[in-house]
Amino acid sequence: MTSAPMATHMLLSGNMKCDERARLLNVFNKATLANSISIENILNSSLQRPGALSSEIYDMRRHRAGEARSGFEIARLAYDAHVSMHHCEPSRP
Ligand SMILES: [Zn+2]
Repeated sequence: MTSAPMATHMLLSGNMKCDERARLLNVFNKATLANSISIENILNSSLQRPGALSSEIYDMRRHRAGEARSGFEIARLAYDAHVSMHHCEPSRP
């Protein structure tokens, strides 16, 4: 009695299970979260009364928001580049 469980599993899953894609998606999700948190920080800062927050802290938050934004863009590009070359995105029809 012979069987090929691995091949069957690949057929049933429909798509390649790609560890790299999963890793890049995880990085992207974290970067998205960090980006939205930093934007919230900026919005909260500007909602506060004038003088309630020092300009140094405000500048620091803007700087961090810029870094979070860059990280988000890089993560998105890395994910897109990988799935377009590797064709491993599960949402494809
Ligand atoms: Zn892949």
